[in-house]
Amino acid sequence: MNKKIVIIGGVAGGASFAARARRLNESAQILMVERGQHVSFANCGLPYHIGDEIKDRKKLLLHTPQSLKERFNIEVRVKTEATRILIESKEIELKDLSSGEVYLEKYDDLILSTGAAPLVPNLPGINHPSVLTLRNIEDMDRIIDWINTKKPKTAVVVGGGYIGLEMVEQLKEKIQSLSVIESNAQLLKPFDPEMAIIVEQELLQHNISVFTAEALVAVEGEEVPKVRTSSGRSIEAELIILAIGVRPESKLAKDAGLEVGASGAIRVNDYMQTSNPSIWALGDAIDVRNVVTSELAPIPLAGPANRQGRLVADNIFLEKRKYRGSLGTAIARVFDLTAACTGANEKTLKRLGIKYVSHYLFPNNHAGYYPGATTLQIKILVSPESRKLLGAQVIGKDGADKRIDIFATAILGGLSVDDLSELELAYAPPYGSAKDPINMTGMLAQNNLNGLVAVISPVDLVDILKTEAKEKIFLLDVRDEAEFNTGTIAEAKNIPLNNLRENLGGIPKDKRIIVFCASAQRSYNAARILVQHGFNVCNLSGAMKAWKQVEASSLLK
Ligand code: FAD
Repeated sequence: MNKKIVIIGGVAGGASFAARARRLNESAQILMVERGQHVSFANCGLPYHIGDEIKDRKKLLLHTPQSLKERFNIEVRVKTEATRILIESKEIELKDLSSGEVYLEKYDDLILSTGAAPLVPNLPGINHPSVLTLRNIEDMDRIIDWINTKKPKTAVVVGGGYIGLEMVEQLKEKIQSLSVIESNAQLLKPFDPEMAIIVEQELLQHNISVFTAEALVAVEGEEVPKVRTSSGRSIEAELIILAIGVRPESKLAKDAGLEVGASGAIRVNDYMQTSNPSIWALGDAIDVRNVVTSELAPIPLAGPANRQGRLVADNIFLEKRKYRGSLGTAIARVFDLTAACTGANEKTLKRLGIKYVSHYLFPNNHAGYYPGATTLQIKILVSPESRKLLGAQVIGKDGADKRIDIFATAILGGLSVDDLSELELAYAPPYGSAKDPINMTGMLAQNNLNGLVAVISPVDLVDILKTEAKEKIFLLDVRDEAEFNTGTIAEAKNIPLNNLRENLGGIPKDKRIIVFCASAQRSYNAARILVQHGFNVCNLSGAMKAWKQVEASSLLK
């Protein structure tokens, strides 16, 4: 018997499933149902058309209902909403949004790739026409139309996540006065605060006003609206982009009694089946298992949605295979910077009580002697037990993308820091260094895990300095006096590395010595001297460079 498959949602996950399903089975009847006007469009490209970087709107439309029919023999019904699943009779109720007609379709397998909807909080003035969200082509057209007709000079982007910051970047050339407000104490939640601050500073350098720890509380006024924040601030905004996150589109599943998680996302098993085995779900609408932490939560990204689409098709037509989980590998360009992360961050590891050691590195993206070298800011988190990588964050002008992808590969492949130190990576001066930053992070972690030097995270030092535990530590700054005089950490004592051996008497043996320099290289040498003289010593991860980021971030506040 030929299977009849109905797909709800025709964009990232749904379209990826449909194409794979057809390639695997020529005789299945495949019906794709989409509430909007378009299928298979590039959501991720929407901000770049608003900013005119992608000039041709048509380039965002990867397929049309006609092209899906011609190429894949897939029947597509746009402007059609799935309104109810009838589990017992294996039918789906559909509503033609143009005619209002409601009818039933049978299915053998039902695929829910319904995505997620932008969060719109119920606040005074939120329905003002200048408040716009961005999820699909229609939203994009609306924003472009607003910009072209109203010619706003002021705008506020509410939400400092990936989409919010991409919009800030793309609006910069069009809007004179641009602000971003973020209710968390930092931008880009998947990063740790002392890394996210680098991105905040980049925005400030581009004359964007940034207000963190300030939530939107109201949109006030009629002609020229104003954004009111939780601190009482009022910001004029002729355009307000609401990008505060998404909620999984799971109503269909919930109403049908399918299991959903605490986040409201649809629960699936390792094969992507919902609590009803004939109904599969994928993409932004589901909870996925985090590869590092094993937590179940939505990870709303295009890569996982596309891979899951392919997997579900395989699981219907081929031998069943398990989904390995998601890492949350993500990247964004923010003006001259690229910010990328993968796996777990330090906040999450702390919250879950997972043991980790953090390391920072500030290498050149390629050989320093080759023109145009720029600095990468790298933070890695490593399990001291398994020696495996738990997470990484990389920010820089160039070369962050390839480093994060290597880290992501390392996490999924279960590579240890020893493997990282030995990876043979392509090198010529314009591209990297003979010891690539990836190798160096492995070596740094090896030095620690092999017992050569203990390290302390600056985040942990912040905690110590806030409590009585600070009496039990001795901060030792081994930079030169001139560097020390530009500022140090708390009440650190200065003994430059070159003078250390003759000044050991001034260092207490009954305290934990936290040694630091500018970038943790000289302090590593100092730590080796101190260890061999019987001191209880640890090197401050990232040294003053990371500490300055800590100071600028919300961590010390
Ligand atoms: P979607 O692609 O959103 O598709 C869901 C579809 O289901 C929607 O078209 C919706 O109309 C339809 N639907 C929902 N309910 C019904 C119903 N009841 N009946 C009929 N149809 C229904 N991810 C990245 O990894 N990198 C990026 O750079 C990136 N940039 C992004 C930029 C923007 C502006 C946006 C909005 C998202 C971005 N994403 C990015 C996220 C990525 O687009 C999503 O993770 C991905 O599209 C999820 O795929 P999906 O199939 O689950 O949902």
